[in-house]
Amino acid sequence: MSREPAPQPDVLQQVGAIAKGMATVFKQTFRKDNTEQWPKQIVAPPERSHIGRHLLNKHENGLEKCIGCELCAFACPADAIWVEGADNDPENPTSPGERYAKDYQINYLRCIMCGLCVEACPTRALTLTSYFELSFTSREEAIWTKEQLLEPPPPLGTDPVDREG
Ligand code: SF4
Ligand code: SF4
Repeated sequence: MSREPAPQPDVLQQVGAIAKGMATVFKQTFRKDNTEQWPKQIVAPPERSHIGRHLLNKHENGLEKCIGCELCAFACPADAIWVEGADNDPENPTSPGERYAKDYQINYLRCIMCGLCVEACPTRALTLTSYFELSFTSREEAIWTKEQLLEPPPPLGTDPVDREG
């Protein structure tokens, strides 16, 4: 049985493809640089971007939204969250539910900012902010406590600790 001859390459088509590829190379080679002079200039992140540290939110009456359910910790693929729940004191509750987070920690050496913990939270207690200026000099510093996470982040570029680097 005779085999059919292989189709001949279309030379013009190939030259066109090479020209198109080289056009992309030249376009990228001579494009204007887009270097940000951080930390001298703080370029505002895009609106609604959630690329920074977490925030543990409170209700308007001051009660914590977190009910210590640990769903965020279960959802985290990096095992970065530690939650210890406890029963609320009915006379002086910390959160509106029966339970609250007695301890809450996020390890930023592990966190990959994927947001799965935020998705898992049933009370919107946990959100990501756009505060990305995180730096640490020790493992202990990278593990944020509940008290730290309850504090809203300062505006970007205003934290003197972050300016030192
Ligand atoms: S953002 Fe992702 S990696 Fe970070 S604590 Fe949440 S679930 Fe874990
Ligand atoms: S942050 Fe949300 S998911 Fe995590 S323990 Fe608190 S209420 Fe549960």
